[in-house]
Amino acid sequence: MYARPLALAATAALLGSCAPHIPQYAAPAADLPARRSPALQPCALVHLEVDEDLSNGARGWFRGPWRQAYSSFVLRQGDRVVLIDAGLGETTPADVDAAPWWFRLAVGNAARPAVGLAKLLKQAGIRPEQVTHVLLTHRHWDHTGGLRELPNARIVMARADAEATDAQSSPFADGAMRGHFQGLQARIDRMDFDGPPLFGFAASRDVFGDGSVIAVPTPGHTPGATSYLVQADAGKPWFFIGDAAWVKEGFEEPVPKGRLASAVADFDADQTADTLGHLHALHALGVAHLVTAHDARTWVQLPRCVSGAATP
Ligand SMILES: [Zn+2]
Repeated sequence: MYARPLALAATAALLGSCAPHIPQYAAPAADLPARRSPALQPCALVHLEVDEDLSNGARGWFRGPWRQAYSSFVLRQGDRVVLIDAGLGETTPADVDAAPWWFRLAVGNAARPAVGLAKLLKQAGIRPEQVTHVLLTHRHWDHTGGLRELPNARIVMARADAEATDAQSSPFADGAMRGHFQGLQARIDRMDFDGPPLFGFAASRDVFGDGSVIAVPTPGHTPGATSYLVQADAGKPWFFIGDAAWVKEGFEEPVPKGRLASAVADFDADQTADTLGHLHALHALGVAHLVTAHDARTWVQLPRCVSGAATP
């Protein structure tokens, strides 16, 4: 999820920063590119679920509980084994312990009992070395924790996030852990969006050139935050939006993240609000399932990759 020093958040809260305006957009055109790929059915890998206050995910007082998930998603297409995000890893608890106090204060102990990516993949019948690609929605620590457990995967990320990672001088900054990318530079593919507009967003990229996965820039949470349209074999396509919203209320109502949470986690609140406006218009059109990384209510129709509870 996260972000910038708590002092910044506290300052923003004390000053009572205004809620960013979420623009209203007309229904976007919903022309989907033709798909010419092998059979594809996504499933969800759940590293951890913890109770959280829904007011953090959707602005408003006393909204009640939120069962917050930490997730990755698997797309199998013949020999291609693709992950959307690399969630949490075996080293995540140690990574958090090594972080400075403000980072630990922000992320808490939430990730401590998580099941690491490699272990979770094996429970799903996938060897980590089989994973061919990881498509990152953004570079935050809870989406990159398992990258080093995948020895062969190409890592696809928007150029803006890749450059922010290159420029990161501190081990912990802007919600990212530099160590998660250590030794992986040669396997990072820096993505430019050279395709036509999609769903009201400015551009797109056909990731594999076969129409199966289309990347769309949905900036704000991070400069290079990216969503992925996945056209499965049947039913509506899936639109994996990462942390553009943490909970479904974000794009349904629409409403920003909680004031403190947004100040800590969103790189650019106005840009995040603009992205939410587009996502709300897409949701209202009803042509795709919008899936957030942290709200399992948005993927109830997706099978879980591991049947039953994952084993820590
Ligand atoms: Zn996150």
